Amino acid sequence: MDREVFWHPFTQMAEYEPLIFTHGQGCWLYDHQGRRYLDGVSSLWCNVHGHRHPHLDAALRRQLEQVAHTTALGASNPAAIRLAARLVELAPGGLEHVYFSDDGSTAVEVALKMAFQYWRQCPEPRPEKTTFLALAEAYHGDTLGSVSVGGVELFHGMFRPLLFPVVRAPVPDTYRLPQGVSPKGACRYYLDRIEHLLREHHHRLAAVVMEPLVQAAAGMVMHPPGLLRGVAELCRRYEVLLILDEVAVGMGRTGTLFACQQEGVVPDFLCLAKGLTGGYLPLAATLTTHRVWEAFLGRYEEARQFFHGHTYCGNPLGAAVALATLEVFEKERTLEHLPEKARRLQHHLDRIAQLPPVGDVRRRGLIAAVELVRNRQTKEPFPWEEKRGWAVCLEARRRGVFLRPLGNVVVLMPPLCVSLEELDLLGQVVYESIQAVFS
Ligand SMILES: *Cc1c(COP(=O)(O)O)cnc(C)c1O
Repeated sequence: MDREVFWHPFTQMAEYEPLIFTHGQGCWLYDHQGRRYLDGVSSLWCNVHGHRHPHLDAALRRQLEQVAHTTALGASNPAAIRLAARLVELAPGGLEHVYFSDDGSTAVEVALKMAFQYWRQCPEPRPEKTTFLALAEAYHGDTLGSVSVGGVELFHGMFRPLLFPVVRAPVPDTYRLPQGVSPKGACRYYLDRIEHLLREHHHRLAAVVMEPLVQAAAGMVMHPPGLLRGVAELCRRYEVLLILDEVAVGMGRTGTLFACQQEGVVPDFLCLAKGLTGGYLPLAATLTTHRVWEAFLGRYEEARQFFHGHTYCGNPLGAAVALATLEVFEKERTLEHLPEKARRLQHHLDRIAQLPPVGDVRRRGLIAAVELVRNRQTKEPFPWEEKRGWAVCLEARRRGVFLRPLGNVVVLMPPLCVSLEELDLLGQVVYESIQAVFS
């Protein structure tokens, strides 16, 4: 029945082998045949404190006793008000207003449209600023605006006729550097390329949109340190807004609650989703500045309001569980425990790096990736059709660890509450699975 009626996302249904999760507990998932798996990718990068966390479950139950949903169009609810206030408190100073939507794609879509509208309504309007600068290999979601700024050929190429054009900068990859660029010179090199594009196009650019520190869906591509701060400075200098998509890297993933805090950057828009509700419910937030907010104020007849909204904006259940997620960060000192876990994960990555088909291991906080290559010297990838990453993940599944790869990249991204013992299992299983596939 699963195969016939349930059309799964990013899945070739002709080949799909049903894997049906019936329940979960902590970092573990259980399938309909009673097998258990360590949730090695946080149920697609969104689980934070584990499944069936008592504090999160209780918050949802409490909210259910009040109401499940009321509209945010011209009305409000206490859970969403409290969540907005808490996000403003926790976010870098200057981000003072919160627009709620449903998922990562809409969080980015909202930022794009707000940035566009801002330049038409700001005190000295610049209506010619209608374009965006985005990075190669970018992934910002699957709605058409988010796909337009996206740059993953396999996902996005076919839809090109439906998309708006963007200015594209190279992917600031630290594994595959352009010829003649040293690791030390990488940050300068990529910033120069971005500055070159800004110099040429800034008059028509509404915003730069990027993921800070790590381009997740691109294959956990890690940017050189300092790149984010450099881009933020360039945006200021060239009068272009900065949209940071922290849908994957936010909510503690990289070691701080928000990734932009690591380089002291305050963007004009900060997009959150995935881990915002601890991985419980779809809810997203686009945080922005007072300067942007003010450009949308006016009398009703002026029609300056943001004409965009989704039925479930600010849903009280989502807001309640997001608030509880933020509370657990404090109660369990989640971020304080991360460095030790990151060290343990790194220990396993260092071991895995010795295996012959492994070209690179990389990590930022509790985001880790193992890249399989055909040739370690030339870094030549395996053709994506060979599904090498999948082969490793299927071996891992047999050994009780659930993983989902990105092409040749095996992603290790357990919930932040993962124990050291669970990290040992994850590391050992990935090691053995690569050995098994390539032996
Ligand atoms: C997952 C993701 C999105 C899209 O989020 P959805 O909730 O799947 O719409 C956007 N940006 C980044 C960086 C993501 O990882």
